Amino acid sequence: MNTEAYPFTVKPLPYEYDALIPVLDAQTLCYHHDKHYRTYVENLNKALSGYPELQTRTLKELLAMASFGTMPAGEPGADLLPEDVRISIHNNGGGVYNHALYFDSMRCPVGQRPWGKLQEAIIGDYGSYADWKAMMTEAAMSQFGSGWAWLLKDKSGKLTIRKTPNQDIPDLETYTPIFLIDVWEHAYYLQYKNRRIDYVNGWFSLIDWKKAEERYIAQE
Ligand code: MN
Repeated sequence: MNTEAYPFTVKPLPYEYDALIPVLDAQTLCYHHDKHYRTYVENLNKALSGYPELQTRTLKELLAMASFGTMPAGEPGADLLPEDVRISIHNNGGGVYNHALYFDSMRCPVGQRPWGKLQEAIIGDYGSYADWKAMMTEAAMSQFGSGWAWLLKDKSGKLTIRKTPNQDIPDLETYTPIFLIDVWEHAYYLQYKNRRIDYVNGWFSLIDWKKAEERYIAQE
């Protein structure tokens, strides 16, 4: 399995399809992971298939080039991407990165609480878990149309909430993602129809705070 470079593969769910019930039912999760996420992986590979010189690049390098015109080291990289695949790499590469992190940031909805250094940072930067949750909810609800809401940390460990449209990513040179919520309708429509707020409210009980803490304390 190789989720970091070409040919990209679908990262398996770290839990069963029914593990996130009642927040996400098995059909919703199965379609999202097996169909939507897989399509991004396949289309990214298709975009790269004619460019051997790009096939040695990591996903982060490709995204930095396609989205910000740089390499992860901050070097200019825009000229490394042919124009006919740049948008496809931006959109599908973002879809691959975002979905892999999204599915890996959840677990069965039992007993999750923020803890450790990340809990301290949430209280330090937002006042309380409840205040942070309200701001995260606002980001997820106010993203017009399709997109994502993120919890990020900067180099100093300070937390930031961001939203991005479509499959856009934040600048990964500046920010380390802690987790994110998918607010594309395909993430919840089968189960929740138009009720994004019910899906968002439920998602908080799925957050894998252990993995979030590991990402928060990791030195990049
Ligand atoms: Mn999605």
